Amino acid sequence: MTEAQAFVTLATTDAYCMGCIVVGKSLRRHGTSKKLVVMVSPNVSRVGRLALDDVFDEVVVVDVLDSRDKAHLTWLGRPELGVTFTKLHCWTLTHFSKCVFLDADTLVLCNVDELFEYEELSAAPDPGWPDCFNSGVFVFRPSLNTHTQILEHAAQHGSFDGGDQGVLNTFFSDWAVKDIRKHLPFVYNLTASAVYTHLPAFQQYGHHAKIVHFLGGIKPWHHSYNPQAASESSFRDSSKNFAAQFMHLWWAEYYSQNQQQVK
Ligand code: UDP
Ligand code: MN
Repeated sequence: MTEAQAFVTLATTDAYCMGCIVVGKSLRRHGTSKKLVVMVSPNVSRVGRLALDDVFDEVVVVDVLDSRDKAHLTWLGRPELGVTFTKLHCWTLTHFSKCVFLDADTLVLCNVDELFEYEELSAAPDPGWPDCFNSGVFVFRPSLNTHTQILEHAAQHGSFDGGDQGVLNTFFSDWAVKDIRKHLPFVYNLTASAVYTHLPAFQQYGHHAKIVHFLGGIKPWHHSYNPQAASESSFRDSSKNFAAQFMHLWWAEYYSQNQQQVK
């Protein structure tokens, strides 16, 4: 059995490629010893793929899986999330024994290789419904058997939110109560919005943040950013504006030099 391990992310559009680049660069900046894999759909441009090639060990082309569950997604106000079903292809990466999936809208703040000590399926609670896990960061074991089972489960039961998170939560349905060791600390999937809604908790624990997740409709790449104009000091002044600081860190990572790749 292979012992190889990898961080895995996903882009089905060139915009999400920007996010993947930041995921990869931030993992390398903090000296990960794991392989970096990005799954892309065939429509991602050649330029987008070449940029990913510079950062990732493997760029794997996968088909787009669409939940076609328009009713649920419209209700959530996020019709684009049907393609997040594509994420389920990560279980087919069977040349790895264990992987950590990271959404393209995450930013890694320190070395998080210890995540590989957790078992499938480990994830952090969703801030909106903490008895569900958030599927932006999770530990899993690639397996064609599991992949088939999840797709069958999806076909049979659909997804209660129209996206991968609904499917995965009903598939790994005992996550909330069975084994507390599969609950990742919230600092591994710190949603930028939680900074506002739970400011006292953020002030107490925020300095332990390890992975920031820009969950929601507005992503860092939707904001314009001028690397010349945005001096560090203007952000330091707004010490209360943590979300803006994370956004700044995201853009700084996007424009940073590529770290040496250990291939
Ligand atoms: N994704 C993608 N293309 C899309 C939408 C989503 O590649 O059009 C992937 C990407 O990796 C993204 C993940 O699916 O991070 C989950 O979507 P998103 O992060 O937008 O959902 P949220 O975390 O805001 O619920
Ligand atoms: Mn996300």
